[in-house]
Amino acid sequence: MMARPAAGVRSKTLIITLPGSPKGAKENLLAVLKLLPHACLQAAGGNSRTLHAGGVEKLEKEAGLDSAAKSQHHHHDHGHSHGHHGHTVPKAHTNPGDSLISNDPRAGPTQRYRESPYPMLSVEEAVKLVIDYTPAPTPVQVPVNGSLVGHVLAEDVQAKEAVPAYRASIVDGYALNLHDIVEEGGIKKDPRKFLVASVSHASPSEAPAVQSGEVARITTGAPLPPSAVAVVMVEDTTITKASPDGQEEQEIEILTNDIKPCENVREIGSDIKAGETILRKGEQITAVGGELGLLASIGKPHVSVYKKPIIGVLSTGDEIIKHNRPGPLRPGEVRDCNRPTILAAVESWGFETTDLGIAADTPGALEETLRAAMRRVDFVITTGGVSMGELDLLKPTVERALGGTIHFGRVAMKPGKPTTFATVPFKRTEGGARETRLIFSLPGNPASAVTTLHLFVLPSLQLTSGLPRAEVGLPKVLVILNEELKCDARRVEFHRARVSMGKDGRLHAVSTGGQRSSRVGSFRGSNCLVRLPARKEVVGRGDEVEGYMMGVIGGL
Ligand code: AMP
Ligand code: MG
Repeated sequence: MMARPAAGVRSKTLIITLPGSPKGAKENLLAVLKLLPHACLQAAGGNSRTLHAGGVEKLEKEAGLDSAAKSQHHHHDHGHSHGHHGHTVPKAHTNPGDSLISNDPRAGPTQRYRESPYPMLSVEEAVKLVIDYTPAPTPVQVPVNGSLVGHVLAEDVQAKEAVPAYRASIVDGYALNLHDIVEEGGIKKDPRKFLVASVSHASPSEAPAVQSGEVARITTGAPLPPSAVAVVMVEDTTITKASPDGQEEQEIEILTNDIKPCENVREIGSDIKAGETILRKGEQITAVGGELGLLASIGKPHVSVYKKPIIGVLSTGDEIIKHNRPGPLRPGEVRDCNRPTILAAVESWGFETTDLGIAADTPGALEETLRAAMRRVDFVITTGGVSMGELDLLKPTVERALGGTIHFGRVAMKPGKPTTFATVPFKRTEGGARETRLIFSLPGNPASAVTTLHLFVLPSLQLTSGLPRAEVGLPKVLVILNEELKCDARRVEFHRARVSMGKDGRLHAVSTGGQRSSRVGSFRGSNCLVRLPARKEVVGRGDEVEGYMMGVIGGL
């Protein structure tokens, strides 16, 4: 009865561990609930001989379980109790490690799987799991400045001030008194000559009122004098009288009669009204500038945005050396091309990174590195060690040493088949709050690592930073193939390509050449992953396929 919900006894405490899924937890709890009083008596030190005197049948009867009816259903009664919902309960005292899927690194090669035991998921299924297990975003208050770029707003923002805050001139020219202008347009005075009585500059000052028959010279953005209603552009005027020294204008003539009240005036709040919602929760602050500009223009000092995660990047493999280690390579050595590439890509997406270095292919080293990493970062990206070799230790380490859950360990895609995604429970201190760390274990081959980084890691980083679900991931486009491309019969392929706009105004894709997963050069000059369907036939030149944009489309 107790075997399915993992159970144990410590001193006089009965410990029952239910599965995480609400459905599973409920089913398992129901299965043990009725026997709990009995189990508690026993755990508390009750005499088991007396307690068990009536045998299993008596126990089940007391617990309200009808063993006669049960055994009719199951046709096998091996002396163990049956679950309330008809679960056949495995023998008690199972080794908890038995349910782990990963290889046991201590077991020899004959004990290892010859094919990956992880179910092969479609890319869509895998992305969905990533989305499902990505932590919800957390809001933080931050000052309004350039470092806001890339953040997503966690609040609706209302303007406390109007923009403009005063009636301002749109042009350089002359402000006219309201009595000198007719409602339907036109100037009352004839000839249209006016004394230049004052000057209003764009500066924090209040302009003196302008009287009828006079104008005030005014510059762009300057406050309109009280009683002024319109501004005539300097281009529509001419000087008719200058001061005796010839330096100052005294009188001007307005050359046009085509002027209306409010012309060339920005009214208070005509750009932003006080109280207006200028930005909404879920909007991203872009580097284009509009969002930051709005926040700055209304004088918002702080704003609530979602926290961005910190991402650690780790390479694994005994053969991997720092990319810039001087001297020639020894046999079997490989320069680390994944770490610098991934760090740069993640930083270009606007996230802070931590370089976790290179971990050796020993269980202890990997475990230690990952444990230390979880203290410093929210997400860990590893490369290598997820294939089928004996030193592919990532899955066993995550599952067996760190107590993590591997949500997928195989994806039907090319490149990137062994891509692995896991969550690991983590406590900063003994008894501290339970946090979750995400581990993306990407394949070691550089082109596979970069492809899967874009397809699986990016959407998760964006989602946990508060971007709405519908907006995460690489932007999808339709592209026309400029050459015939061979498909893989069984796996969807993400072919690296360069996309640009053709003369026909449509997007055209050119392959970057050899697509072997070790060839990181397939990403050179590439701005798009072209999705080739899994099928025997080729995709023809001129055919339209889906593409996922990683970079911008080149200029004209
Ligand atoms: P693995 O997944 O560890 O079996 O690695 C698959 C292939 O990718 C092997 O040929 C590795 O040498 C290579 N590889 C793994 N990590 C890196 C790296 N950081 N840089 C370049 N190549 C790598
Ligand atoms: Mg390796």
